[in-house]
Amino acid sequence: MKGFRLRSRYLLTVLGIGLALTGVVVLAVELGGQQRVPLALVVVAGIVLSLLAAAFASVLISRIDRAMGALMASAERIGRGLYSEPVRVSGVPEVAPLEDALERMRQALTGTAISRDYLDAVLNSMSDAVLVTAPDGRVRTVNAAAVALFGHRPEQLVGRDFDSLIAEAHRASFEADKIVEEPGETVVRTARGQTIPVSVSASSVSSEDPGFQGRIYVLRDITERKRAERRIRYLARFDMLTKMPNRMQFQHLLQQALARVARQGRGVVLLYVDVDNFKEINDTFGHAAGDRVLETMSERLTRVLPKESVVGRLAGDEFAAFIETADGAEDRHQQASGLARLLLREVSRPLHVSDHEIEVTASIGIATCPEDADNVIDLIRNADAAMYHAKRAGRNCHVFYAPEMNAAAVERLLLKSKLRRALERDEFLVRYQPKVELASGRVVGAEALLRWRLPGHGDIAPAQFIPLAEESRLILDIGAWVLNQVCSDYAHWQKNIDDPGLVAINLSLKELSQASFIPRCRSVFERHGVSPSRVELEITETTLMMDAERTLPLLDELRAMGVHLSIDDFGTGYSSLSALQQFPIGTLKIDQSFVRNAAADPDDATIVRTIIEMGRSLGLHVLAEGIETEEQQRFLLQSGCQYGQGRLFGEPVSADEFLEMVLRQATGAFPVLRQPA
Ligand code: C2E
Ligand code: MG
Ligand code: MG
Repeated sequence: MKGFRLRSRYLLTVLGIGLALTGVVVLAVELGGQQRVPLALVVVAGIVLSLLAAAFASVLISRIDRAMGALMASAERIGRGLYSEPVRVSGVPEVAPLEDALERMRQALTGTAISRDYLDAVLNSMSDAVLVTAPDGRVRTVNAAAVALFGHRPEQLVGRDFDSLIAEAHRASFEADKIVEEPGETVVRTARGQTIPVSVSASSVSSEDPGFQGRIYVLRDITERKRAERRIRYLARFDMLTKMPNRMQFQHLLQQALARVARQGRGVVLLYVDVDNFKEINDTFGHAAGDRVLETMSERLTRVLPKESVVGRLAGDEFAAFIETADGAEDRHQQASGLARLLLREVSRPLHVSDHEIEVTASIGIATCPEDADNVIDLIRNADAAMYHAKRAGRNCHVFYAPEMNAAAVERLLLKSKLRRALERDEFLVRYQPKVELASGRVVGAEALLRWRLPGHGDIAPAQFIPLAEESRLILDIGAWVLNQVCSDYAHWQKNIDDPGLVAINLSLKELSQASFIPRCRSVFERHGVSPSRVELEITETTLMMDAERTLPLLDELRAMGVHLSIDDFGTGYSSLSALQQFPIGTLKIDQSFVRNAAADPDDATIVRTIIEMGRSLGLHVLAEGIETEEQQRFLLQSGCQYGQGRLFGEPVSADEFLEMVLRQATGAFPVLRQPA
């Protein structure tokens, strides 16, 4: 419309000028007076001239008009942020400067738009939720993953207080300043009211411009990991058949009860219950019937015992129960007898198995705290010894523990006195068990395992004497001896081969809590010329969590020295993987108790698979201990486990034998290890 008006104005002007010109010509001719020109001719000539001028002007105007139209379209595109199409050059000189200026503007804008679009694309393709906040804590920008996590539209998130996105119950404990220093976890609430556990990390935006300052939060949904963790912990603590606490959980609960009663000056009664002739039931009626009997036993025990007691299945047909008591030793005895009789009566009620009515009895051993023992291990062992005597006394009865029942206790005392002299008498030796890469069978290092060669006894396994040594400072001397011996062996290996792999040493809590531990390690490494980066320290999960606050800085210092750290016997403790994340750990060693049945038992398989997945998702190496069969190796490989250790690859051997093994490997004569079929 505007173009039409412009054009008609131009045309009228041109026509006007044409008519005026015609007038001027007529006037000039008239005044000249030589010849009279007919008026009609003059008018026709004037009109023709005017029309010619108008036609020429019209063509010119159309070109300018078209060029202006294209220019306006370009300007509009640029205004909408579409910078990809260059400004078209019309060739009309009148608009050329404008076109030039617009094209330069487009090119300048293209640069900034590319970087902005690129950043948007990067942010939106991240799987983690990203929220950027202003200094007042209000959300300024979010990415697509944040929108998906919270279920709010971007405009509902922007402008909101970041804290208000955290679930109410977790708001008080969420410290944004701390998160900047160290990533943490919290729980957020979504638009639909769901709560989702997330890992959070944050960093501050450092900029001179206050308009740019604020924080970037990165959130990751860890629901799956939390669920897997709960499942691992459940499977590791409860017996699948009876849904009762297993041995580990029972011991844990007993441990807590013992600590409680010690503070309160009370006591505990422990009943160790073993089903009589269970093997025959199994053999006669089959395993399914055997399982049914165990389920019935667990129901009966739970039903008949007081509510406040704890019942667990310790192994096959062995159950145990404990109850806290307030009374003196005499009354405790009476209460225990009463409970045992009640149990025996309830247990021996007839039950139906495979269309047969059978009668099952049990034998019960009783130990009390504090009379018979004040710690979990001894209390259970003593009740077990009493149960054994109940069996010998003809079964279906209960027997109280008496010190003479426990021949092992005597043995233990003897052993302890001999252990004190073992160092002086040079009775210790170190054996090395190879650690291998499961896929290739390549030896990547070894674990140093201590042996006590007691004359007249043969080799004594560490499980028998390390706990004894840990009861006193003896473990410190033994630990120091092991460290020195291992470094000396390693120095010898290094003289013969470039890379003997990592050597792992087991550590006790007492050693770690010793103030001089780290300087001593450093000086031993130096003395033998062994780089700390060639050494790995194995710490059990339980040790690690025992005094986490004190242990953490020590481990950080060791890690800073270059020492590798691994969690031993993982799965047997009670820590969550998140709790372990705070430690500078590089490797997770799955306890052999899970590996043993992993290929055959679906529950253990699940535990092992979940540990491997979680360990790897946290960036840890995962090693499985106690691999004895190719079937286990295959299962572990398929489950993504990288490293392994166990009889299948080699028993613990002497330092010289290990050197020979790695030398053979270096010359290509290896792997002598089996490759999975
Ligand atoms: P660990 O660190 O978990 O060591 C692995 C144990 O599994 C070793 O038992 C090893 O001989 C055994 N083993 C290896 N392959 C297999 C297999 O295929 N099947 C089975 N069932 N077992 C296998 P060992 O030597 O009796 O050591 C027991 C524990 O004693 C070690 O457990 C470790 O915690 C502790 N220990 C050993 N040496 C030392 C030491 O120098 N200092 C300290 N503080 N503890 C030590
Ligand atoms: Mg170990
Ligand atoms: Mg272990």
